[in-house]
Amino acid sequence: MKGIIFFDRDWVLNKKAAEHQYISKIDDFAWNKWAKELIKYSSDLWFTVLIITNQQWIGKGLFTIKDVEIIHNKINSDITDFWGKVSWFYICPHLASINCNCRKPKSWMLEQACNDYNFFDKTKMFLIGDSKSDIEAANNYWISSYKIEPDNIIEHIDNIKLLISKI
Ligand SMILES: [Mg+2]
Ligand SMILES: [Zn+2]
Repeated sequence: MKGIIFFDRDWVLNKKAAEHQYISKIDDFAWNKWAKELIKYSSDLWFTVLIITNQQWIGKGLFTIKDVEIIHNKINSDITDFWGKVSWFYICPHLASINCNCRKPKSWMLEQACNDYNFFDKTKMFLIGDSKSDIEAANNYWISSYKIEPDNIIEHIDNIKLLISKI
């Protein structure tokens, strides 16, 4: 493996839902086509692709970890059909209000991933996210990141590919 590319999930892999909406079932999940391309691009360059996602709706009881796993199985099979690979999903299921150790902007999920993959070269890691907490998590772990805007992400793809290619 050459390094690790971390992706946030919601509004990065999938299209932005309406305000205060969440993704609780497969039908809610609509791919951003460019995200599939970026995952494949990363996989082709021998990066390990990991998804790092806050899902506090689980903590609110709106859906379960099992529901999330069903969605993640679909992501996996779609991306495999596209000749890319997502190696693992890291999920914080906790409410923001309980101040857990794993929820972004804390970097715990990133640290955990690096321990799991026994890979610690931070110059060979990169995170793509859409929210401030994604970028702060990357900053807290001292790795590079890129903040996309969900509404005009297509403009970012060449920039991101260039940055990944230079890692
Ligand atoms: Mg997001
Ligand atoms: Zn948590």
